[in-house]
Amino acid sequence: MKNYIKHHPWKIIEDDFNVELNRVSESLFSIGNGKFGQRGNFEETFTGDSLVGNYIAGVFYPDKTKVGWWKNGYPEYFAKVLNAPNWTKLTIKINGETLDLAKAHVAAFKRTLDMQNGVLYRSFEAKLKNGITITAQISRFCSIDQDNMGALSYSFTVDKPAEIQVSSYIDGNIKNEDSNYDEFFWENIKSESDDNLCTLISRTKKTHFYVGVKTETDLFINNDKVNYFLSQKDIVNSPTISASFSIEPNQSIVIEKKAIILSSLNVDKDQINQVLVNEISSFHKLYFRDLLNNQQKAWAKKWEESDIIIEGDIVAQQAIRFNIFQLNCTYSGNDERLNIGPKGFTGEKYGGSTYWDTEAYCLPFYQSTADKSIARNLLIYRHNHLTKAIENAEKLGFSGGAALYPMVTMNGEECHNEWEITFEEIHRNGAIAYAVYDYINYTGDKKYLAEYGLEVLIGIARFWKQRVNWSNEKQAYVMLGVTGPNEFENNVNNNWYTNKMAVWCMIYCGESIDWVKEHYPNDFERICKTSSFNENERTEWHNITTQMYYPFSEKHNVYLQQDGFLDKELIPASQLSDNERPIVENWSWDRILRSCYIKQADVLQGLYYFEDEFSKEELKRHYDFYEPLTVHESSLSPCIHSILASKLGDEKRAYDFYLRTARLDLDDYNNDTRDGLHITSMAGTWMTIIKGFAGMEVKNDQLIFSPLLPKNWNSLSFKIHFRGEVKHVFLDKSGVKINA
Ligand code: BGC
Repeated sequence: MKNYIKHHPWKIIEDDFNVELNRVSESLFSIGNGKFGQRGNFEETFTGDSLVGNYIAGVFYPDKTKVGWWKNGYPEYFAKVLNAPNWTKLTIKINGETLDLAKAHVAAFKRTLDMQNGVLYRSFEAKLKNGITITAQISRFCSIDQDNMGALSYSFTVDKPAEIQVSSYIDGNIKNEDSNYDEFFWENIKSESDDNLCTLISRTKKTHFYVGVKTETDLFINNDKVNYFLSQKDIVNSPTISASFSIEPNQSIVIEKKAIILSSLNVDKDQINQVLVNEISSFHKLYFRDLLNNQQKAWAKKWEESDIIIEGDIVAQQAIRFNIFQLNCTYSGNDERLNIGPKGFTGEKYGGSTYWDTEAYCLPFYQSTADKSIARNLLIYRHNHLTKAIENAEKLGFSGGAALYPMVTMNGEECHNEWEITFEEIHRNGAIAYAVYDYINYTGDKKYLAEYGLEVLIGIARFWKQRVNWSNEKQAYVMLGVTGPNEFENNVNNNWYTNKMAVWCMIYCGESIDWVKEHYPNDFERICKTSSFNENERTEWHNITTQMYYPFSEKHNVYLQQDGFLDKELIPASQLSDNERPIVENWSWDRILRSCYIKQADVLQGLYYFEDEFSKEELKRHYDFYEPLTVHESSLSPCIHSILASKLGDEKRAYDFYLRTARLDLDDYNNDTRDGLHITSMAGTWMTIIKGFAGMEVKNDQLIFSPLLPKNWNSLSFKIHFRGEVKHVFLDKSGVKINA
């Protein structure tokens, strides 16, 4: 755990040059606009340890899978959202020496993420080896107002007369650190610089996405715009312009750089060059301050809809705003082809692909803080992948329209390479079906079932029907060889959560069929035709749902995570020594798999989903049995435990888990923030406040609150979109007030 970020209600501040923590900071200072995003890398040359990251939503590469022994059903590739051309780059030479904070003496340094306005600031004072001290201030943002545009301003002074050379370029020589075979994923189509403009058009190999970046760089000396830039033709794949001039100590230099970033997802590949020209010229007359002004207004609007105000606890306040900020940087919801990668635009891990995280953790945030069309798009994404989900199931031997959604995907195809963990985590199908229910229950948009939802539910119900088998021994249906949400056990039999989810899906699908048949008979007819649905299927589903086996321990009076769970030595996680944790880094996989340690909520994930079916006593009994065995080594774990602790009235544990999820990255609890932020768990953080502390539920079309405020919070208030209205909810010790 680290503690170097200063506490502030609206800002993330690092006020020392922590060179050894640079990767962590680069993650924390990430910015984005839903269409593209980037880590908080420096604009100027930096030869210290750094993970350079610029990502464009939906632009991926199918990196060939690395496995030793190929087996039927393995996916061909591991998709990766690509590290993309970097528009921010500058080289600054002072008397011939390149400014590089890894080599200079840094006397002062500050990095600030202004979350209220969506701007990343940095300032420093550094003495170069040649004795010249440079003092600089930098501001940068990815525009959410014009989501094709990014801009930066870099101003500096020096303490002695000096010869300056400034180069502004688009870095096209970029690689993914996680490339399986150390390949370049891009090929250059056009690299050009002219006057103060640079243009780079690149194409991904294999997937053939085109990405075009065009920058305009302006140089000001003492506020006067000068045009000293000359094109440098000799640099391959990185169009560059350079200016050389002399300055005196009292002169200020400002470099303003605007960039347009387009991809063939949104612009025809043959039009990219022309659209770049048009778009950059539409910003030509605008200064950085004008663009910044628009950004501030756009973020003010975002916060109007999604802010949470906590009075009395700055640590909690800063953390929730950081989580909300990053969620809004990652997904804006206006394109149903896009989704939310576990690391968003902040790192390479998880390849930027879609996981069950979206449905299980992210949907509630987007459905409550924006118009319902945003959450609807997240669901339509899966509807669009239904045919692929049916093909995925066929590859594994299923038939008749059974659909198995991938655990990891970009375009509907399974694209991970760890068989037991990813394929056997078939519970993901349950989360996808549950999201349909959750969305409809929250928004009241039942028509969604007729338009899209039911077809998905039928495909999923069919899958479960074929995935179970009748056990003569148990005289019940069983589900063998699965991995539950707890990835620290693979290939287990009768994971309670998965069995429960399967049954719920088949029941919900049946109810949905009745509803669509009655209210939208024409749609029902269409769905019957397209999916070849036949009423007899329901009888089979009914047999399974009424005769499913659930592992249960009479002794402990709890549902068991899986058949063999009680064969394990049950030693509380509190007995693990600090140097054994996280066990995923310190233990062999063999030891982990046979241990009782639970990575993240598993049975408890089911109790979270189906809370209404259980009494408080049952909830408590399960919580007290499983939580002590849980090591919370998935970022998705603390949020569910915090919500359940709130339900149980356990304020202390609810609050401790809140801090753990909310400040997971800010305080680097799991020692992995360097790889990128845990974006999907950030939505879980939002749920700990809204579903946990505020206790919000939708029952019978009404919003209900059962609050449990942490002791040190004077009040909690937030806005919530509900059924076409934005409600303002205010909670304090005296109760709840809701204003439309
Ligand atoms: C978790 C999964 C999750 C994945 C991506 C894993 O560590 O165990 O539940 O889907 O990360 O966030």
